[in-house]
Amino acid sequence: MQAPERQAESPFRGLYTEVHAFWLAGMSCDGCSIAVTGATNPSVEDLLTGALPGLPRIVLHHPVLDVDAGERFVSWYERAARGELGAPYVVIYEGSVPDEEVAAETGGYWSGMGVREVGGTRQPMPTAEWLRRLAPGAAAVIAIGTCATWGGIPAAIGNPTGAMSVMDFLGPEYRSALGLPVINIPGCSPVGDNFTETVAAILLFLQGLGPLPEFDELGRPAWLFRETVHRQCTRGGYYEEGVFADEYGDRECLVELGCWGPVVQCNITARGAINHLGGCMNVGGVCIGCTMPGFPDRFSPFYKAPPGSLLSSTQAKFYGALTRRLRRLTNLYMNRETEWDAAGRVPSGWGRVEEPSLPVRLVHTIYDRLRLRGAEPPGRTKPAERYAGGYEVPAVVARQRRQKR
Ligand code: SF4
Ligand code: SF4
Repeated sequence: MQAPERQAESPFRGLYTEVHAFWLAGMSCDGCSIAVTGATNPSVEDLLTGALPGLPRIVLHHPVLDVDAGERFVSWYERAARGELGAPYVVIYEGSVPDEEVAAETGGYWSGMGVREVGGTRQPMPTAEWLRRLAPGAAAVIAIGTCATWGGIPAAIGNPTGAMSVMDFLGPEYRSALGLPVINIPGCSPVGDNFTETVAAILLFLQGLGPLPEFDELGRPAWLFRETVHRQCTRGGYYEEGVFADEYGDRECLVELGCWGPVVQCNITARGAINHLGGCMNVGGVCIGCTMPGFPDRFSPFYKAPPGSLLSSTQAKFYGALTRRLRRLTNLYMNRETEWDAAGRVPSGWGRVEEPSLPVRLVHTIYDRLRLRGAEPPGRTKPAERYAGGYEVPAVVARQRRQKR
């Protein structure tokens, strides 16, 4: 059960019953916090109560959710920064990290929590400074949401704050006490389950009960961000058949309304936003690329068809038209019992079903030949398969009777 990668290099040993989580908010809207409180697999409650087998209980220090306030709240951060906590901890950073040197030039600050002594006066402590102090001793630093992972909206071109991602702030050489670079869970806001599931996997690794989860070259949990939105989208079939929405509310593919899904890595269409429900295209919205490092500048203006989509959607319209028609033909055929073909009518009380025309029947005959090529046809066609004593299934007998008429 021991994970050799962890035991060889890590200062952490044994099974822990408690791990502290220090939440820091930089330039954020608190949307990531809200997304996480909606997680269900596992839920925040599962993590906080230690309900998951093998996992330690998380002691969460959160500027909004904590019941402690003021100096008592901040004292936990100070103990961790001084190395006096007596338990492992992780740092979770929400929002982008502002360049506090820019603010300091005018005697101000961008984002703070608690106070510190500066020139004999008590001044707000920048959360960037908390990050700088806490990161070296943390078992892991987790950037949550696109602002923390890639800078996001506060770091968009033209911003006055010099905002940056946690990875940009700590640099490529940064390694946590567990030997990990910054872990990035993007999304604006992120899928809450993506965060709690990753935390659970890291805690298992910390405990020595699981392997180091797989992260991609940008520190994203690989199993969550490997696929594009498009590959998992409920509207993907429409794209393939070349059918596109003209306006919001249509049920077809949204690419001509500005969807970037084919080139964006995100699992929201598969996992849903909360409790496997919702998620952008599932509820009619286009993908604006909010999980990507290029967001928002490289995806703007939003709600305008991406340049590459003209080529691919035109292609899809061309071959999709033929595919769609052939599928429709097969669909109609598969919507019939074999008995109905033998009887020459559909005994439905709900409406009249058109009988296939001669050319369509011919197509189906060819289709069936192809389908059965190299295979055995259904039914009891061989002597060894026949029922004993000459017995025949009544339906088969009835059909034979019909065919004789
Ligand atoms: S709506 Fe977007 S993600 Fe979904 S199929 Fe269309 S282009 Fe792909
Ligand atoms: S589908 Fe696109 S806009 Fe929606 S969450 Fe994923 S990356 Fe963001």
